[in-house]
Amino acid sequence: MNCRFFEAELTGPVSLASKNGMGDLAEVLARMVCRFDLKERAMRVVVDYDLCESNAVCMGIAPKIFEVRDDDNLYVLEEHPDESMRPKVEEAVGMCPKQAISIVED
Ligand code: SF4
Repeated sequence: MNCRFFEAELTGPVSLASKNGMGDLAEVLARMVCRFDLKERAMRVVVDYDLCESNAVCMGIAPKIFEVRDDDNLYVLEEHPDESMRPKVEEAVGMCPKQAISIVED
């Protein structure tokens, strides 16, 4: 299982459960810890609309995340995009000419 806290938590309640022959409980606890960990580290896309000039540069890079509509306003379509989108979001952050986009780790 790939998760930041998995090994650390094995020394805590997961380890205790495992030593007492409760391997299934240990597995459940480990999965709960990993899910919590992933949730805690979800990225959130934040746009400073006072800076944004709706030039759609970000939309050109990540159209699944950013959309400039006919009303000339930018909309964030996925405030919490999948981790696989991080490179595109980071590219949009770097390419935004107004430096209006940021990533917050919630
Ligand atoms: S690239 Fe920056 S300025 Fe342009 S629409 Fe996106 S957030 Fe706004």
